[in-house]
Amino acid sequence: MITYSIIIPVYNEEDNLREMYRRVVQVIDQLDGPTELVLVDDGSKDRSLAILEALHQSDSRVHYLSLARNFGHQIAVTAGLQYAQGEAVIIMDADLQDPPELLPQLIEQWRSGYHVVYAQRLSRAQESWLKKLMAYGFYRILNQFTEIPIPTDTGDFCLMSRQVVDILNSMPEKHRYIRGLRAWIGFPQTAVRFNRDPRFAGEVKYTFRKSLNLAIDGIISLSRKPLKIATYLGLMAALVAIVMIILVLFWRIYDAPPQLIGYTLITIAVFFLGAVQLICLGILGEYIGRIYDEVKQRPIFTIKKAVGFGKNP
Ligand code: UDP
Ligand code: MG
Repeated sequence: MITYSIIIPVYNEEDNLREMYRRVVQVIDQLDGPTELVLVDDGSKDRSLAILEALHQSDSRVHYLSLARNFGHQIAVTAGLQYAQGEAVIIMDADLQDPPELLPQLIEQWRSGYHVVYAQRLSRAQESWLKKLMAYGFYRILNQFTEIPIPTDTGDFCLMSRQVVDILNSMPEKHRYIRGLRAWIGFPQTAVRFNRDPRFAGEVKYTFRKSLNLAIDGIISLSRKPLKIATYLGLMAALVAIVMIILVLFWRIYDAPPQLIGYTLITIAVFFLGAVQLICLGILGEYIGRIYDEVKQRPIFTIKKAVGFGKNP
């Protein structure tokens, strides 16, 4: 029986892994139950996988998965969740931005009856102001859209009970925004606050594009409100059209400035309507694309190798 599983997604983290392992082991040596590390190699192109293999050779608590290509952070964590065997499952990053020293606090809350204990950032050290601003804005916008509140300033760094992990694993959706699904599941949840450290080594793997995709996934997987926005935009366009009709009638009667009527007005109207329609199509497209991805019923990830796990899911 394994009490704690620590899932760590790894994508080109060769310079972080040994230090991360050293700090994690210091913590798990103090824990009150058997612990496994579930390291998920997300198709790294550097020596990460070889290092995972070496760690596994020297320490049987290290279990690892090797995904067949780079699937992205959320999917790597999803794979880890399906293989983790512990009674309590912890998710953290490989770059030591999530300090392993926080684990005892997360576990304490779990022992006292919480099913989800998420780590909430008080500060983010050395991240660009643009990233901080975007993150700040995003969580607040997200909450405008969703019916269930998503705690602000939390990432995936958390502890979840076996019950919650089993439910998460039974959710088949392909576009996974784990911190949203985690909130959606319910159960008693609580926060432990911490200061987010800078990366130990290496480059940030979340490019602007990946972050934007995650943000869109977050909103769309939790809310249908963007579709309503499309309707509102349509109504607004209709309103503008009515105003323009009234204006034109008005000018016909009261000798209006001729330069306002004619091509300018038509051009504006055409562009405006075109824009509204394209925006609405785009919003619809985001949803239809996701429906398409779901009906294809492909597996969420493909696994090259799973090493050290007692049982396969
Ligand atoms: N990661 C991953 N697959 C990816 C991108 C990132 O498994 O395609 C992992 C990465 O190795 C790290 C975690 O996800 O352990 C968070 O990535 P990063 O530190 O780049 O993001 P940030 O801390 O800025 O959210
Ligand atoms: Mg990081």
